[in-house]
Amino acid sequence: MNVLVTGGAGYIGSHTVKALVEAGHHVVVFDDLSTGHRASVAGVPFVQGDVTRREDLLDALKRYSIDAVMHFAAKSLVGESMQDPAKYYVNNVAGGVTLLEALREAGVETIIFSSTAAVYGEPESIPIPEEHPLRPTSVYGRTKLMFEQMLEDYRRVYGLRYAALRYFNAAGADPGGQIGEDHDPETHLIPIVLQAALGQREAVTIFGTDYDTPDGTCIRDYIHVTDLADAHVLALEALKAGGPGGVYNLGNGNGFSVRQVIEAAERVVGAKIPVKEGDRRAGDPAVLVASSEKARRELGWKPRFTDLDEIVRTAWQWHRSHPNGYARPS
Ligand code: UDP
Repeated sequence: MNVLVTGGAGYIGSHTVKALVEAGHHVVVFDDLSTGHRASVAGVPFVQGDVTRREDLLDALKRYSIDAVMHFAAKSLVGESMQDPAKYYVNNVAGGVTLLEALREAGVETIIFSSTAAVYGEPESIPIPEEHPLRPTSVYGRTKLMFEQMLEDYRRVYGLRYAALRYFNAAGADPGGQIGEDHDPETHLIPIVLQAALGQREAVTIFGTDYDTPDGTCIRDYIHVTDLADAHVLALEALKAGGPGGVYNLGNGNGFSVRQVIEAAERVVGAKIPVKEGDRRAGDPAVLVASSEKARRELGWKPRFTDLDEIVRTAWQWHRSHPNGYARPS
């Protein structure tokens, strides 16, 4: 299939591009490079474009005879979304509807969407199933939910075929060692822990040690980025084979606390990592763990990296060999 990947130069996008190429698809990356890295998709046809510009999208869809789109291009920081909501409504909502209209005009009927566990908000039950109430607590989560709702309306009325994949905590890096996580600023736990291990930060600050969890720190479901990438390929192939699509959680079903992540990193790195205890971060639920039974059952998805040390090891391989990210590999 000819697949356009918006946001394909980002962290999860670039890993999915690699998986699509390996599965034999023809991939075109569409990215404005606001946060993505051209080097993460070296050798793949690339269009520098903006999802809020319909002409950029239409041009790429037609020029490459696109059959399906994977849509990653979005702003994705919870904290920033609360400070600068307009950026999120413009990119994630206006950009989203612009993309859907371009798809309609170009006659492209298949889309896989990069959604998030943030659509659920504070969980009522763990593990979280797809039918859990949707009450996002951030602007980010709301914009992702709005796009999911648009997808459903476009399916019902215009026959769009979609799968919306709700990720829990994406982590790790491609085991091949050439691509990985490179955010600026970095806000995610595992890269921050590894930057502290490399001496690039004084310490990692634990955001809250008084949660109602066994060790007092937040529990998250860390899912390897390569497993996420595989799920996208499976979701695309299932839609093309006539599957129903819809929403799917993607997590590995195991929760790990912040302290457990730091301990795993110490085992992988083979050294103590400097830690500080800090205040809670606003908006962090105590526990977020997915039920991914639906993806396993309907898509035949089976995460390969379920061991936390293994996930951290792939991230460490990337950070150690690319201490400055894509900018200046060592
Ligand atoms: N966290 C932390 N210190 C940090 C960054 C994150 O203690 O410097 C915690 C955060 O409060 C959350 C978990 O690590 O409980 C995962 O956070 P991250 O930002 O990686 O992902 P999120 O769960 O927000 O998607």
